[in-house]
Amino acid sequence: MNQLEDLLEFVRIDTTSAKGKGEEGAKFIKDYMERHGIEARLIRHQSKNPYVYGEINVKAKRTLLVYNHYDVQPVEPLDRWESDPFTPVMKEGKIVGRGVGDDKGSLMARLQGILEMEKLPSLNLKFIYEGEEEIGSPNIDSFLKDYKDLLKADYVLWEGAGKGSSGAPEIVLGVKGLLYVEISTRTAKDLHSMYAPVAKNPAWKLVEVLSSLKRDGKVAVPGFYDKVKWLTKEEVSFLKGDKKSMEEAISQEVPEDFQRRLVEEPTCNIAGLYSGYTGEGSKTVIPSYAMAKLDFRLVPEQDPDEILNSLKSYLRDVDIRVLGRVRPYRTSINSEVARCLIDSAKEVYGMDPEVLPNSYGTGPMESFARILENNQIADGIGVDYPGSNIHSFNENIFVQDYLKAKEWMRSFVKRLAQL
Ligand SMILES: [Zn+2]
Repeated sequence: MNQLEDLLEFVRIDTTSAKGKGEEGAKFIKDYMERHGIEARLIRHQSKNPYVYGEINVKAKRTLLVYNHYDVQPVEPLDRWESDPFTPVMKEGKIVGRGVGDDKGSLMARLQGILEMEKLPSLNLKFIYEGEEEIGSPNIDSFLKDYKDLLKADYVLWEGAGKGSSGAPEIVLGVKGLLYVEISTRTAKDLHSMYAPVAKNPAWKLVEVLSSLKRDGKVAVPGFYDKVKWLTKEEVSFLKGDKKSMEEAISQEVPEDFQRRLVEEPTCNIAGLYSGYTGEGSKTVIPSYAMAKLDFRLVPEQDPDEILNSLKSYLRDVDIRVLGRVRPYRTSINSEVARCLIDSAKEVYGMDPEVLPNSYGTGPMESFARILENNQIADGIGVDYPGSNIHSFNENIFVQDYLKAKEWMRSFVKRLAQL
């Protein structure tokens, strides 16, 4: 089999879930697995795009569940692409096309890595591919609940962290959580600003409330940090990260310990702010309404419901509306899955991997942990690198990284099988 050609064929299929596409991609990957002797099927659930499930049961004691997604982000702006996003091309050692980095490349590399093994390891393998990850996995919880027994496993391999900014392979053992709220305050109607000496102004109220949320760079909501699990010395020792490329990425200077802070610190961010007259010229008015959108990125073991309660008792006279809630998650760096990922990365790449106890961002990892009752979920064995432009135009990966990921997959499952 020509394996790069198989990947290119997969990339040619438009699976933009935001535009209702995906079915064809699901069928492609199901057929692909069946063609190579893996039992596979489509599972139609409440989701529009089916889940694809595959299984290699060698009657081993333990099972690894591999999670990936076959859907992709919209390709716009199309005029920024140097080649058609769904006509993948090979160029300067790279493959360019929508989805090669996120997540079709990782999906395929892992699968082919297994298929190329001369002898299958004594480890049962389950593959679950989602078609709605790029629209926020709206049905994943109910899917996991309904198929809990089918998806039962000892270890879960997440969708595929590739190379970090240091050039080392990356392993991610968790995610941050999220509490997203809209806070607002209002009076009966807009007033002439001559009433300012005696009238309440919701904009001032909101500003006071917002400024009470942080003090000396720290979140001032009582109890906010109580449950934070700060990183251990060992966890910090596995952090790498290149300061220069981080500064390039955010176009700002960053402190020396930026990597630790990005992983470890929970945040309170103002994502949006609105009140009063913002049009051209002036209007002397006391606005009747002021609103801010806030996202709190939470770290293990902060609970979004508990943080919400603390926030509600701290900010008594504003309205708080919850727009999103995701729990954080972290697998221990001493777990079997983490150790096998670290050791296999060392073997294949000849260097220490970069290990993030949790990513800077959020994802539904905790749903897998809670619903499937699994506390060994880790991410690695991906094909992208910081220049992959995932979600953006000219998405690309290095062919070399793709081949390495296959090797890493093989080394990883062999180690798991030997436990
Ligand atoms: Zn994505």
